[in-house]
Amino acid sequence: MKIIDILNSGSRSLSFEVFPPKTGETYDKMKYVSYKIAELHPSFMSVTYGAGGGTSQYTVDIAKGIKSVGENVIAHLTCVSSTREHVRNMLDAYQECGIENILALRGDIPEGFNYDEMQYRYASELIYEIKDHGGDFCIGGACYPEKHPEAASSREDIQNLKTKVDAGCEFLTTQMFFDNDVYYNFLYRLREAGVEVPVIAGIMPITHPSQIGKVLDISKTALPQRFLRIVDTFGDSPQTMRQAGIAFATEQIIDLFANGVNAVHVYSMNKPDVAAEIQANVSAIIGK
Ligand code: FAD
Repeated sequence: MKIIDILNSGSRSLSFEVFPPKTGETYDKMKYVSYKIAELHPSFMSVTYGAGGGTSQYTVDIAKGIKSVGENVIAHLTCVSSTREHVRNMLDAYQECGIENILALRGDIPEGFNYDEMQYRYASELIYEIKDHGGDFCIGGACYPEKHPEAASSREDIQNLKTKVDAGCEFLTTQMFFDNDVYYNFLYRLREAGVEVPVIAGIMPITHPSQIGKVLDISKTALPQRFLRIVDTFGDSPQTMRQAGIAFATEQIIDLFANGVNAVHVYSMNKPDVAAEIQANVSAIIGK
């Protein structure tokens, strides 16, 4: 099923992300994890794409596996470190295994990147490529409520988002955020700028203190005092931090649903137990 049809159905959706292994050795474990999350029958699952494309076959295989057990799936695809030929091959592979949804991303620019070899500068150029390919894909894109770290200003970032939507991006998924007001404010500014597509809220349950540094590094998001106090008090014990982190994420999700945001995507970090607990916490709200 196409993600845009899920989003337009008017029902609340809760979805989960998995990321493929970095090496073949952990592939079987990862496959098991994705099937365990698929057993929850989320609205859909997303499968990320390794920067540089070196593990792209895993993204295809995991997404294909999720689809084969009857679940809705979106496969990510990045472009900045890829050749046009590689991107086209990936689109053929997605089409061949019946993947209908693609999250079209630029990807992070690797250190020491040779700009002379760059074949795609922005995600919008990938979106044109996907459209040109001719496959019947529903295309999503990423957005950043606290602005993309490279953008000079929020206003400029939102104008660039508009370009991405005009290129054919049918919905957006946000970078993780820990303060819902940041999302509500962003949504207001998007609508004001004429960006009208659905915006899925991305929520990351922090279940171990060791995740925090990495999260901040990747997302450059601000952690509210309320959350920092939780880490300060419970961060020394993995068990208590896990419980508090799931409760914090659940509260964020319930607040989003209560404020009319119908689509929430959970960065479940390949943890089926965390995904299951969060889904159970909102089961009546999402009708599961
Ligand atoms: P773009 O939309 O191309 O934006 C990148 C920057 O360029 C922004 O600052 C933007 O303002 C600017 N820009 C865009 N268009 C223009 C224009 N026309 N003119 C001038 N400036 C412009 N990374 C992975 O490697 N694999 C994944 O699977 C993955 N999944 C992700 C999922 C989500 C939901 C999110 C939020 C991020 C994900 N990322 C992933 C990270 C992402 O690749 C990086 O954040 C990357 O730096 C930007 O990608 P983008 O698609 O948002 O880029």
